[in-house]
Amino acid sequence: MGKQTAFMEYERKVRDERDPEVRIKDWNDYTIPMTEKEVQVQGARCMDCGVPTCHVGLELNGVTSGCPVYHLIPEWNNLVYEGKWKEALEREHEMNNFPEFTGMACPAPCEGACVLGINEPPVAIRTIERSIIEKGFEEGWVVATPPEKRTGKKVAVIGSGPAGLAAAAQLNKAGHTVTVFERNDRVGGLLTYGIPEMKLSYDVVKRRVSILEEEGITFITNTEVGKDISVQELKESFDATILCGGATVHRDIQVEGSSLKGVHPAMDFLHANTKSLLDSNLEDENYISAEDKNVIVIGGGDTGTDCLATSVRHNCKSLTQFDIYDKKGLVRDIETNPWPQYPTIHRVEYGHKEASSVLGEDPRAFAVMTKKFVGDETGHIKEVHTINVKLRFDENGNKVREEIPGTEKVWPADLVLIAIGFKGPEQDLISQMEVETTARSTVKATYGEYTTNVDGVFAAGDMRRGQSLIVWAINEGREVARECDRYLMGETVLP
Ligand SMILES: Cc1cc2nc3c(=O)[nH]c(=O)nc-3n(C[C@H](O)[C@H](O)[C@H](O)COP(=O)(O)OP(=O)(O)OC[C@H]3O[C@@H](n4cnc5c(N)ncnc54)[C@H](O)[C@@H]3O)c2cc1C
Ligand code: SF4
Repeated sequence: MGKQTAFMEYERKVRDERDPEVRIKDWNDYTIPMTEKEVQVQGARCMDCGVPTCHVGLELNGVTSGCPVYHLIPEWNNLVYEGKWKEALEREHEMNNFPEFTGMACPAPCEGACVLGINEPPVAIRTIERSIIEKGFEEGWVVATPPEKRTGKKVAVIGSGPAGLAAAAQLNKAGHTVTVFERNDRVGGLLTYGIPEMKLSYDVVKRRVSILEEEGITFITNTEVGKDISVQELKESFDATILCGGATVHRDIQVEGSSLKGVHPAMDFLHANTKSLLDSNLEDENYISAEDKNVIVIGGGDTGTDCLATSVRHNCKSLTQFDIYDKKGLVRDIETNPWPQYPTIHRVEYGHKEASSVLGEDPRAFAVMTKKFVGDETGHIKEVHTINVKLRFDENGNKVREEIPGTEKVWPADLVLIAIGFKGPEQDLISQMEVETTARSTVKATYGEYTTNVDGVFAAGDMRRGQSLIVWAINEGREVARECDRYLMGETVLP
């Protein structure tokens, strides 16, 4: 284990962040790397508990607790403490093909389940994870390792998000010939066109994809399966197909005025911004600009926070984020949200800090429900009307939001971004492939098995699970590869 008494001697430290007032002037990583020595001290804080709870991902109370890819966390913490970085990297790659993606953007449910976290700040697991893989790239230890033999079997993976990439990487390792189809012009799925550059840059995605290409995987971009290539062609050319198309149908807001000009789904805003940024450093102006606008972001989650961070970089005039929930406490409520559940607490994320640096205060308004949008004479959004709400449960246990009289408010708005989640996957390809779906419109395939009703067709990631996390997508991508390998070969060499 790390140093036996280190958890009593050293405080938790994660990456510092660049000054918000400075970083909002660029699109570079908002964090600052720690020194090797600092990371080793953090590794030493791991207590090597008899029964570690950090490394097993479970859903507790509807929220992830522990690591869904079963990272060997206590092992690599100790190896880092001992300065054995290369061995730590090997342990990391055993369970996760892409620790750089999770090391940058995972919400770290492992830390919520860390035993030290019962009464002390938990081990800085995500920071250590990121430092290991970054050192691996710096030292040149992360290199292509193509399979020694090919099986002659061909697999099509549809979608190049983390689920598709993980499935492709594993199937290629097993010797199958893998082609990944992606309808966007760049690979990466939401890693590229969802999460903004300052949180996870396209260079990081590209660096990994180049290695996958060197290992023998073919990526075909600008190609939508079901449109540019038919399902029949796919069936004739491949021995198996894996659906990893994500869950990209956004939830609409059902209030008067939602079709006014200036009201956009958050993903239209984020996708166009990243594309324009990568294509032309925003010079082509092919994006929805927040410059000089009163911006309202509806939705208190990660997507909403990414909209805040993007809007401040555009130099918006004002910025408010509506959260329908009440402001949470600063520490977990041990009655309703005990360890090792993921702590549902008030968090101040990078986008909130950046917005505060410009506005002088946190941009969030809590327990706010949108009642209607009002436009001007040209049909453009002018105002958002809201009321505050109180959450209660009715006699059947259903959530009811009670409006609080007298709390009506009118907000000036030139740009409204709707970030209230996703309904599920797009249905066009699913119906063309005659794949059955669940009541939630996701592809029907049991977790751990991933087989659909159609022979040789598998599904994984958000398309199967519904909108989730990178780490779950990687977990499902790895596991679907195992099941697909078993289908193709009668047995499997994959974990
Ligand atoms: C704005 C935003 C921010 C997020 N931030 C985080 C975060 O910080 N941390 C975190 O853990 N999770 C985050 N998530 C969630 C995370 O990004 C997703 O859970 C994850 O990317 C899902 O991976 P996936 O591979 O299943 O699907 P996706 O990443 O959605 O990839 C699916 C890909 O399939 C392609 N595709 C679909 N249909 C076809 C077709 N017919 N032919 C060819 N290609 C097709 C799509 O173009 C897309 O590129 C965020 C999500 C959003 C929207
Ligand atoms: S992938 Fe996420 S849950 Fe797993 S160790 Fe990394 S930060 Fe923790």
